[in-house]
Amino acid sequence: MTDFAAKARELMPQLTEDLIELTKIPSIAFPNHPKEEVRRAHDHLVELLRGAGVTDIDSLDLPDTSPVIMGHIPAPPDAPTVLLYGHYDVQPSGDESLWESPPFEPTRIDGGAIRGRGVADCKSNLIAHIGALRAWDGRPPVGVRIVFEGQEEYGSAFDDFPPQKPELFAADAMVIADMGNVRPGEPTLTVALRGAADLVVEVRTLKKAIHSGEFGGAAPDALLTLMHALSTLHDSNGDVAVNGLRRDPWNGTSYSDKEFAELAGMLPGMPQLGSGPIGERLWHGPSITVIGLDAPAVDTAASAVVPYARAAISLRVHPEQDVKEGQRALVTHLEKLRPFGIELTVTPGDAGAGFAAPTGGPAYTAMQKSMRKAWGNTPVEMASGGSIPLVNALSKAAPNAEILMLGAEDGHCGLHAPNERVLLDEIEKVVIAEATFFAEFAAGFTASLFLDTMGVPPCRATTDPTATPTPQSSRPPRP
Ligand SMILES: [Zn+2]
Repeated sequence: MTDFAAKARELMPQLTEDLIELTKIPSIAFPNHPKEEVRRAHDHLVELLRGAGVTDIDSLDLPDTSPVIMGHIPAPPDAPTVLLYGHYDVQPSGDESLWESPPFEPTRIDGGAIRGRGVADCKSNLIAHIGALRAWDGRPPVGVRIVFEGQEEYGSAFDDFPPQKPELFAADAMVIADMGNVRPGEPTLTVALRGAADLVVEVRTLKKAIHSGEFGGAAPDALLTLMHALSTLHDSNGDVAVNGLRRDPWNGTSYSDKEFAELAGMLPGMPQLGSGPIGERLWHGPSITVIGLDAPAVDTAASAVVPYARAAISLRVHPEQDVKEGQRALVTHLEKLRPFGIELTVTPGDAGAGFAAPTGGPAYTAMQKSMRKAWGNTPVEMASGGSIPLVNALSKAAPNAEILMLGAEDGHCGLHAPNERVLLDEIEKVVIAEATFFAEFAAGFTASLFLDTMGVPPCRATTDPTATPTPQSSRPPRP
């Protein structure tokens, strides 16, 4: 097989230039940001893809949605098709005074890194996809579908579009490169994403605010009532204390306590909330966060009993728990409470399903092998606390496709934060892994077709991703 390590090394100077040019474009798809910049990033990428051998390129235009770049390289005979996903829009830069160099002037920094908004999330991964295609001179041994989205950071009509036109997303494997390694140099496959649901809880107890001296002590206090309710969501260790929310042991990798404290920016001496292994708390169990509270502000507080208060709550659920079921469990918990005998009004908000990738199938195995070749050590599994709605939609559109989540980001790259950076070495390794994967996956696929004709049961993704039992394939497939 070709030595993709040498090839990637040769490609890196140009890929780095391409990444820098792409990062200069402030392609922010939020309202009040110029749409032309998003378009400019789109056009720039179309050029890069053409140069990398993707001749069949289309833009998918949906209402209020940046154009999605859809490219296609047909599969050679009997070869599988791999969908390559990434997004070209970026988060706004936030407070620019917190940046050590202007966010849209990508800057080389120590340690072989480049700093800039979107340089890691997710432009590094788009460039890595392009690098893998260049490594094959645009003629990979697999069919390729390009799906480069332009509005991932801000919701769009694309989020649930794929099942409406599944033929555009037909693939045997999908490389969702909007991720990265748990820490630099440690190859990581993300295999699960928690589900997310919002809700609002409110309470009205009085027609209006009343004197706390005259009435306090007997008047029903809305803020106190709400605080009593919120305090029941966790036990004294900080573990979630709501029935019906799933939590299971986590067998993948995880952060050390020290690393977590650093990543989270915990102040010295601060304890973590909850008990048990941290991976289990972050990725394989629920979390409940009070994300907003309406109450009188301290600076303008009057001596009065508060008549009305409300809180916004963000719930995260186990990747395989039905998110609506989890949301209902929390609603039921709050509705049953009646602190001081007072009823709360609970309004469920948006809910996005979690995701658990079946592991151990042929594409997964081929990618594990390819990543081992690229980084020199065996990939670990992690999960992500955030959800990616599109992953569910893609998996609905192509239910037999194995989903592989990885990329050039890393746990310390500061995505969505000031001074986001990417390590060029990680991009190079993703190029090697992906280029190698094309060959490994194609070879395994052809072998399974051959076994097919011999009457041996197949084990490829197009039939059943869980058909080959392995220690990791015990998770039920997603519906
Ligand atoms: Zn992203």
